[in-house]
Amino acid sequence: MRRLVIAVDCDDVLIPTAEAIINDYNDRFGTALELKDMYKPATLETWGTDDDDVAIERVYDFLRSEAHAAIVPEPEAVRAVKELAVRHELHLVTGRASFLEELTREMLNRYFEGCFTSIEHTNFIVSSTNVSARRSKGDVCKAIGANLLIDDHVQHGHSVLEAELERVIVFGDYPWNQNETLVEGMVRCHDWTGVLKEVEKLQRG
Ligand SMILES: [Mg+2]
Repeated sequence: MRRLVIAVDCDDVLIPTAEAIINDYNDRFGTALELKDMYKPATLETWGTDDDDVAIERVYDFLRSEAHAAIVPEPEAVRAVKELAVRHELHLVTGRASFLEELTREMLNRYFEGCFTSIEHTNFIVSSTNVSARRSKGDVCKAIGANLLIDDHVQHGHSVLEAELERVIVFGDYPWNQNETLVEGMVRCHDWTGVLKEVEKLQRG
């Protein structure tokens, strides 16, 4: 059996974040956002502003809040990650901005203690003044020597395949990944049971 280096995304893979963001945003701004609007450019009709930076700052206010810190990972994710960590080397590779480092570390310590070798923040969604902080998941995964990425965004899957990772698991049934065409090297898993099966196939080589 091979010992794999596995990069695991955080939001909407380990922990259900998008739904909480949308609910909080609608409560505070009187909008009617749905999950399908989550990664679309801001418009007055959806985000109540057509300025992406304004929408991002409003979301950041939620991400800094106690309510965000209180989100609990899915029990299925906790069980599966603990199982994977026994046999493989796991790294958290998240699109989260760097200002969430402490909160992310606390969440991992609370629910996934000892499971992750490193935590990599790639600043995927940042305001237009901060794009220089962004790192591609491909570059990060290559640097840590990952074989596999588990992520809900197909875009990151392309980035890591270009960096010559073997496999991408496109995780979950979300509006932002349903219509994407997968390329060779990508496989869809609807849940963590599916992920464990795919990892088992890969570790047999
Ligand atoms: Mg994610």
